[in-house]
Parts: sequence; C-alpha cells; structure tokens
Amino acid sequence: MKKDTECVRAGYEPGNGEPRQIPIVQSTTFRYTTSEEMGALFDLEKAGYFYTRLQNPTNDNVAARITALEGGVAGMLTSSGQAANFFAVFNICEAGDHFVASSTIYGGTFNLFGVTMKKMGVECTFVDQDASEEEISAAFRPNTKCMFGETVSNPGVKVLDIEKFAKIAHAHGVPLIVDNTFPTPVNCRPFEWGADIVTHSTTKYMDGHGVAVGGAIVDSGNFDFAAYGDKFPGLNTPDESYHGIVYTRKFGKAGYITKATSQLMRDLGSIQSPQNAFYLGLGLESLHLRMPRHCANAQRIAEFLEAHPAVEWVSYPGLKSNKYYELGKKYCPNGTCGVLCFGLKGGRAAAEKFMDGLKLVRIYTHVADSQSCMLHPASHTHRQLTDEQLAAAGIDPSLIRFSLGIEDADDIIADITQALESK
Ligand SMILES: *Cc1c(COP(=O)(O)O)cnc(C)c1O
Repeated sequence: MKKDTECVRAGYEPGNGEPRQIPIVQSTTFRYTTSEEMGALFDLEKAGYFYTRLQNPTNDNVAARITALEGGVAGMLTSSGQAANFFAVFNICEAGDHFVASSTIYGGTFNLFGVTMKKMGVECTFVDQDASEEEISAAFRPNTKCMFGETVSNPGVKVLDIEKFAKIAHAHGVPLIVDNTFPTPVNCRPFEWGADIVTHSTTKYMDGHGVAVGGAIVDSGNFDFAAYGDKFPGLNTPDESYHGIVYTRKFGKAGYITKATSQLMRDLGSIQSPQNAFYLGLGLESLHLRMPRHCANAQRIAEFLEAHPAVEWVSYPGLKSNKYYELGKKYCPNGTCGVLCFGLKGGRAAAEKFMDGLKLVRIYTHVADSQSCMLHPASHTHRQLTDEQLAAAGIDPSLIRFSLGIEDADDIIADITQALESK
C-alpha cells in the first residue's frame, strides 16, 4: 500500500460482518477456558491478550497502522510522548549506562534525559547536532548504548542530519533513536535514512484535533542487537521473569518491542487507554490530507512574516534564508511541518501585546493542532526566568512559537495583521 492508503487502512482488516471502524475493546481482561492456555500467555509461549496493562487489541491495531506508516517491523503505543521516549531509551540503557542526545530537543525530553534519568543512574551527554562527526563522536564512551535526536525539533524547527547521526551511531555499535513527531511519517521516513527506532508524541499531528495525549515507538528491525551481546545484556541474556527466554533469540527482529512491552509496560504501566487509541486511529485516517495543508499554511505565513516590517526574525526550514533549508529539502521534500518561530521588534513586551490582540489564532500550550495556536515561552512555559536566564537556556525572549492549523491562510493573515497593527 502507498502511504496515503496506509493512513486510512493499515493495521485493521475487518472480517465478514465485522465493524468498519477499529473496535474499542474497553476491557481490562480477557477470558480463557483452561488455565494451561492462560499459563502459556504468561510464559510468552503464545501470543494473545490477558491484561490491558500489557496489550489490548485496539492499541495493537493502531500501533500496527503507525508501524506500517514508518515502514517498521514492530510497534507499540504508550500513554504519552514522554513515556515513548523514556521507554525507547530505558529499554536498552540501565543504571551505569550512558547515551548521547542532541541538545536540540523538546524541553520535556531534555529534562527527562538530563535530570530524571540521571537520578536513575543513566547518564546523557548532550551534543550540538550541527557539530562535525569528530566533535559528536568525542561524546561516546565504552558504556554508551544509544544515540537520540529529533527529526525536526520542537520548538526551534531545526532539521536533523539523520544520515550523519546514523553513521556516527553505527560506527559506535549503537542504534539511532529519533523522535519523528513534527514531520510525521507523511513528511519524513527516518528508517530510509538509517535511523533504527522511531518515537512519537501522537498527541500532536497524528491525533491532530487536540483530543488525547499519547505516544508510540516503532522499531525498524534493522539494528542487530544480537551482534552486540555484551552491550545489550537485557536483550541477549535470559529473562528470569519469563523462565529464561532470550528476546533476540525468541522474537528476532521483534525482540526490542517485545521486551519493552513485556518488561516496561508490565512494570511501569504507561499504557494508552483503548478509547484514546481509537481517537488516534481516527486522526491517522486524515493525516496525509492534513500535513500538506499545515505545511502550505506555514510556508505562506512564514513568507508573510519575513516581509513584515514589525517582524525581527522568522525561523522556518521552508524559507530560503533558513539555515536548515537544504536539510529540509533532503529529508522532508514535501515540507517539514506546520510549526514556525518568529520574533517581533520590541522583544518580550511586543510579543505579549501582539498575542493579546489575536482573535482567531488561539493561545494554547500545544502544537501541531488543526487550530492555529501560539505560545510565547518567555511569558508562558518559561515565565519564571529573567531575560538573562532565558538567554542561558538558549531561548530568545522574543521567540513566539506559531503552530499553523488547517484554517484558510487568508483568515490567519488577516488576524495577525490586525493584531500587529493594534499595537
Ligand atoms: C510534545 C512532544 C513530546 C512529549 O509528548 P507528550 O505526548 O506531551 O508526552 C515529545 N517530543 C516532541 C517532539 C514533542 O513535540
């Protein structure tokens, strides 16, 4: 199937007389007629459902759709994007291990990696994703277990050189994990450029309508964990909690996802509710139609803002003036995403005044929604910081994050024009 068909059809095939829509299996548990059958499931000897904390049919149908879109071999849903990124790394990094991540990543992920995982004994070295191969390679250690980046970053809309990152990761015998939330597989397919594992905050474009928080992990099956037995003992040595099964041996290319489900979901329980998975499946059915419109609106408004005298700067990879224009064309030939950043002349005060004047565009702590929305980090998410502290955190006090929805671009331009003129 082509990508557009997969958005609508992949992952669920109704049988004769069965529902057209993915059924919401709103049940915590599943019945078996013999204890022997139930026992086989607990031993991972047979595939099947027994308790929704580990697996649920609705979730599996939707995960299979995302897995098909990414071109992977196995995938799973999580309760949030945060849980997806945590599970993706923690599945192969234990206390005493180390990993390397781009510093140009979502603030929540940056905190998870730099603060919370550190408390768990997993250390992360952040690197400048635009640095040379040699500089980035210097961050690797004997106990480094993976590398992480965002294909297009939130909020800076910086495009990752996926091939460069994959080359560095593989030269050090570790997989590359990328968060593909902003471009989605409609605009970027990281596995085709060497990434091994993809994560998503499905809360964003995949859901698309501001309905449900969720996440996903997809494995390409390309990284050969069995070839590095000593480095990844969790995948290559017997799991005593399942009678000594070895994930890579028993499940082959699905070993990584099976381990994340049977150990991390079992113990940490960050499952997505089947109801939310259903909403996500519905969102995916129109993802291929919405993404081009988000991109077209962002391109048009980026060009409009760049030409406006009240605007100091605009950052969007679709602009020829942008540092990431060429990388954007390479990895996302149909456009990156619908998010851009800009700053007004007059900095923080001008940004606050401008946003108060908006009528159509909403102020939401959200991005990648069908409704256009803005956030001013200096006044909202980072409001406790002074301009000096913001600069130290790499946040321009004038920065406005603008997530273009799928409304008519003329209406959006009319709204920002009146808000700029009412200053
Ligand atoms: C929002 C976001 C996350 C976190 O996802 P939640 O669903 O809010 O937990 C992670 N990565 C990126 C790129 C995001 O935009």
